[in-house]
Amino acid sequence: MSTESSLRADIVEIGRRMYARGYTASNDGNISVRLGGDRLLMTPKSVCKGFMTPDMMCVTDLDGRKLQGERDPSSEMLMHLEVYRQRPDVQAVVHAHPPIATGFAVAGIPLDRAVLAEVLTTLGSVPIAAYATPSTRELPEAVRKYIRAHDGMLLANHGALTVGGDLYSAYFKMETVEHFAKISLVARLLGRENLISREEVMRLQELRGTYGIAAPAPICADPADSPGAGAGDREDPATCQVVQAPAGSGLRLVPGLPDGSVQPAQRPGEEAEIRLTYRELSALIEDAIRSLR
Ligand SMILES: [Zn+2]
Repeated sequence: MSTESSLRADIVEIGRRMYARGYTASNDGNISVRLGGDRLLMTPKSVCKGFMTPDMMCVTDLDGRKLQGERDPSSEMLMHLEVYRQRPDVQAVVHAHPPIATGFAVAGIPLDRAVLAEVLTTLGSVPIAAYATPSTRELPEAVRKYIRAHDGMLLANHGALTVGGDLYSAYFKMETVEHFAKISLVARLLGRENLISREEVMRLQELRGTYGIAAPAPICADPADSPGAGAGDREDPATCQVVQAPAGSGLRLVPGLPDGSVQPAQRPGEEAEIRLTYRELSALIEDAIRSLR
């Protein structure tokens, strides 16, 4: 168990890195970690995360009452409290506005394609929580939808949220989200993405244990194959966003479109061709019906 002083130092260091990497501007972002005895250590309100000192942090209880600290806790404290309520396994929460990932959040394009093995093993699909006014009770409500099944998510027109078993694990997931977003953006600018097959996604999921990763069902390639997903999650499929991974052993080309939709591969001189599983076809039909309503 880390001491409180080392956790304060870790928050300072992570804040410095987030600011240096451009994940936050001005006073954006916030970081928190569980202390023993149902207490949280949290960044204070209205402070640039690049210039914090260990004494600035607030200690609160799990209801958000300040127990210690000269400054008030983060304006996004309610979102942090909601995460800790929903996820007893989570020890730390990081929120920032990394610009590429936030661009996807602004465009309404989730990072849900199976394109990078390290993302599939650490985060799986990265959904977008619905837009909510920052610092209000709406934000924890928007986050609640996905947080039981996902360790990382985008916040529509706002930023990103990651959680982990310790501070650095939560922070590194923020790095992974932004890195994933950057690579996805480049691939889409280049005109196509090769998706990893569903079989390979399942293999990666099986390997997660050997990497020491035990968060609940972040891949969700198929709800029935997600051992971490509880019965409650299956009753509410919205809690788990499925990774887009085609069936079959080979890679499939998926040209990137601005609206994030999937279209058949088209190259000059070739007929457009698309192969769909029954599940993908059903999803397309459902989408079409929804858009007609
Ligand atoms: Zn924010």
